[in-house]
Amino acid sequence: MRFDVLTLFPDMFREVLATSMPGRAAACGAAEYHLHDLRHWTSDKHRTVDDRPFGGGPGMVMMCQPLWDAVHAIEAMDARPTRRVLLTPQGEPLTQRRVEDLATADRLLMIAGHYEGIDERVIEALEPLEISVGDYVLSGGELPAMTLIDATVRLLPGVLGHEDSAAEDSFSTRDEAGRPLLDCPHYTRPREWMDRTVPDILLGGDHGAIARWRHEESVERTRRRRPDLLESPRPLGGTDRPKSRQPDGGRPASGEHSGDGPGVSAS
Ligand code: SAM
Repeated sequence: MRFDVLTLFPDMFREVLATSMPGRAAACGAAEYHLHDLRHWTSDKHRTVDDRPFGGGPGMVMMCQPLWDAVHAIEAMDARPTRRVLLTPQGEPLTQRRVEDLATADRLLMIAGHYEGIDERVIEALEPLEISVGDYVLSGGELPAMTLIDATVRLLPGVLGHEDSAAEDSFSTRDEAGRPLLDCPHYTRPREWMDRTVPDILLGGDHGAIARWRHEESVERTRRRRPDLLESPRPLGGTDRPKSRQPDGGRPASGEHSGDGPGVSAS
């Protein structure tokens, strides 16, 4: 799977993408990462990507043209169809279901915003899938993009070993009705620590009984901590955004694009 990241701060990614599961995914050939500095698609000597907001107010707004040119140039670098993802606090809250969906893509192009945000017109024209990592505001989309990459690569075949399979993690493990559950509690040596003991059932060697106990703990934990997960699942849906006034060609679906942009040469 190919990940392209369009950012003003490519250096933020290097250590993260070389470490732990993202690093392992690259090493085993399951993932490749391409970092693109948005300033590469500017034309003035100061490499300007932002300007003051119309109507006044604080902060700066990322301009349309560099982003538009960059997205099309990056898409033209590889023939695989791209799903465009914009990281924004106004997007669909990221869930494991969405991560599972994105992990089936051949290619993700992630756009990390900065400053006050991005000129609305280029968002309308690019029609990305808009994803939020939570109801709080970060300084930029870089950490959310890293979050999405990490969550996605763990699901790619061959990245996690059997011993750390994702299937029993929170949100992937399910009850009989298919609703997501939180993971059960885990314990390791020593058997006693500060007068606290490990539940007896985990020491008895009865694997059937252990599996049942773990499942019951998961259900109970979910009921107590996240009862919302046990409500009817909502379908995956994009953000409620009016259709672009300047159609961007025959696109397969919102947030999903073939690499057929006009293409601006990139290094
Ligand atoms: N003015 C914007 C608003 O209130 O919706 C916030 C802009 S924020 C300071 C700058 C950038 O950080 C955004 O364009 C987005 O890319 C990223 N960002 C901030 N919080 C985020 C979140 N919770 N999820 C995803 N991206 C986020």
